[in-house]
Amino acid sequence: LSNLGTEQLQEKDRSYVFHPSTYLAKHSRGETPNRIMAGAEGVYIWDTEGRKSLDGFGGLYCVNMGYGCAEIAEAIAQQARELPFAHVYAGQGTKPVALLAEAIVEYFGQNMRRVFFGLSGSDANETNIKLVWYYHNILGLPQKKKIISRLRGYHGSGLVTGSLTGLPFFHDHFDLPLEIVRHTTTPHYYRQAQDGESEEAFSKRCADELEALILAEGPETVGAFIGEPVLGTGGIIPPPQGYWTAIQAVLDKYNILLIADEVVCGFDRTGEKFGSHLYGMRPDIVTVAKGLSSAYLPISGSIIGERVWSVLEQGTEKHGALGHGWTYSGHTLCAAAALANLDVLKKKNILEHVRDVGPYWQEQMKAKLDGHPIVGEVRGVGILSAVELMRDPKQRIPFEPNLQVGVRAAATLLENGVIGRAMPHADTIGFAPPLIIKRNEIDIIVDATARTVDATY
Ligand code: PLP
Repeated sequence: LSNLGTEQLQEKDRSYVFHPSTYLAKHSRGETPNRIMAGAEGVYIWDTEGRKSLDGFGGLYCVNMGYGCAEIAEAIAQQARELPFAHVYAGQGTKPVALLAEAIVEYFGQNMRRVFFGLSGSDANETNIKLVWYYHNILGLPQKKKIISRLRGYHGSGLVTGSLTGLPFFHDHFDLPLEIVRHTTTPHYYRQAQDGESEEAFSKRCADELEALILAEGPETVGAFIGEPVLGTGGIIPPPQGYWTAIQAVLDKYNILLIADEVVCGFDRTGEKFGSHLYGMRPDIVTVAKGLSSAYLPISGSIIGERVWSVLEQGTEKHGALGHGWTYSGHTLCAAAALANLDVLKKKNILEHVRDVGPYWQEQMKAKLDGHPIVGEVRGVGILSAVELMRDPKQRIPFEPNLQVGVRAAATLLENGVIGRAMPHADTIGFAPPLIIKRNEIDIIVDATARTVDATY
């Protein structure tokens, strides 16, 4: 394998790999970028040709402890030798899974009780929707099946989770969204607020629009609302002042469960342990993945709060074992990786680190980019940030989509040595580097972004 050169690897890649979110025919013809990644350390990743980039997106906002973390690698090697896998069906357990579930429940706090494990954010959200249905069925409310999410929300790309996702890119030509899903307003103040509307007033309007949707559908038909504390893939959009409090009040009024999708925000990224804590959300179910293991191995979790857990227990008393699970629910090796990851997160005091460098990152981005003639908005929280490019920022006029300004800017940024992501909506470049990032590395990203935006102008 080591003798194969870049071109040979590219040839195999183009001939055999079915890449996600890719122009398939163009890729087969060799008309798309085709870097073959080969190694990484800290916040840097490099390809087979030795070209090194600062990974400003942490893989896909997942390599939170950075590349080359020896503690996680060791834990995986040791667990693989000892016991790579034992299923956890019908009450069988393993040490890594028991310790990990306890660590997650304690890290979230509030009234969380149990963790159901999966392998991806998508499968965790799929589980969550099934549990919402089971919950309402057990309580004798079988009509409560509709799930509300937001336009520009992202919750996965399966049939149900892809429907929850509120981005046309994931629906078009797949006959999605499914009938059970409804979408409500995107809480993006810069783009959606009316002239003179305060953030609080805009949040109240979002909550009113949610309430109007619930009333139009019939509250007796709505089972749950799902949302990311900070909208991620839809553009990295922190909520406006008062948003979650206003939304929570509407959900409480109509007996609608709240699922907090913490796949991106969880485990310190926002400067709180979870985005829910930052914004005062009181979720009934919480989705975690990505930063749970820093992507060293795939693992996700549905953290279940008291309200839902007690009904699940009641249901199985009455109807027998719960018919839901994957072979790899609670995969031993993945759980060991996640456990080691959470250990590193605590030992390195990542939460304090994010609270220290996060504000620096936000200030620097604003100082260098706010007010630029094509910058509409510089936004973010913790170590999560975005720059939205607009033809006319003051009038809020975007560039014409066919110009692909965001995609071209991300390509220029890469030439400037930094990986940022052209988000799949509008011309927004997103950043979510490993949480271990240092100030001088933040400076590199900010400088490269400023140069990129200048070159795009
Ligand atoms: N939820 C959120 C908020 C996400 O950002 C993602 C992925 O980016 C998912 C769910 C889906 O996770 P996965 O890609 O692991 O299925």
